[in-house]
Amino acid sequence: MNPFPIILSSPSGGGKTTIARHLLERRRDVGYSVSCTTRAPRPREVDGRDYYFLTRDDFVQRRLAGDFAESAEVHGNLYGTLQSEIARVLGKGQHVIMDIDVQGARQIREAFPSSVTVFVLPPSGEVLLERLRKRKTESPQQLVSRLNSALQELRAVEEYEYVVVNDDLDHAIQSVGAILDAEVLSRERVSGLRQQVEQLIHRLEAEVDHHSSSRVES
Ligand code: 5GP
Repeated sequence: MNPFPIILSSPSGGGKTTIARHLLERRRDVGYSVSCTTRAPRPREVDGRDYYFLTRDDFVQRRLAGDFAESAEVHGNLYGTLQSEIARVLGKGQHVIMDIDVQGARQIREAFPSSVTVFVLPPSGEVLLERLRKRKTESPQQLVSRLNSALQELRAVEEYEYVVVNDDLDHAIQSVGAILDAEVLSRERVSGLRQQVEQLIHRLEAEVDHHSSSRVES
């Protein structure tokens, strides 16, 4: 099996981070790419687990050094996926789950055409607004900025291959799992398929030949 990146995007508060976390708990075939960000850690966030928290200077240095597979400015902060994180997870034979915004998704799709893209939709505008407001760590200005990014994200939904409505968390997790399972079986991803089918064809052709020649003889 060839592991591939799986990108989850959604407006802030759409639930993609929670879905990613549960999938990681449930499946051994997926690993998480820990992103870098210049935003301050929220309570209970741990450096190296939730994000690598960098200063803006460090981030810019690393971007100049070509360390990022993608990077973007999201509501005033820089975010980026390290090449080394993707390589680390794929190197373990795991699909790499990335919880990134639409700008980052475009760059990853370009660099890794085998990526699978999933857009997580909130079930309604009211639910989305409620989830956004619940993030009490934000100032009113930050809330407006998040609302504007949410609009930008929603407008990009057509760039994604799959859409999962997050009205029920368990169902949404199962849906993303089902997408993964189906993608693993997609014809282009099955390695050695041509050889496998050719062997089957040869075997059947030999059998047809055998029957045809024994009919001629009798
Ligand atoms: P938050 O600050 O709430 O954790 O994340 C804000 C937004 O940044 C979310 O839409 C999230 O998906 C996005 N994000 C997180 N990590 C990355 C990353 O590495 N690259 C990009 N492009 N976006 C990211």
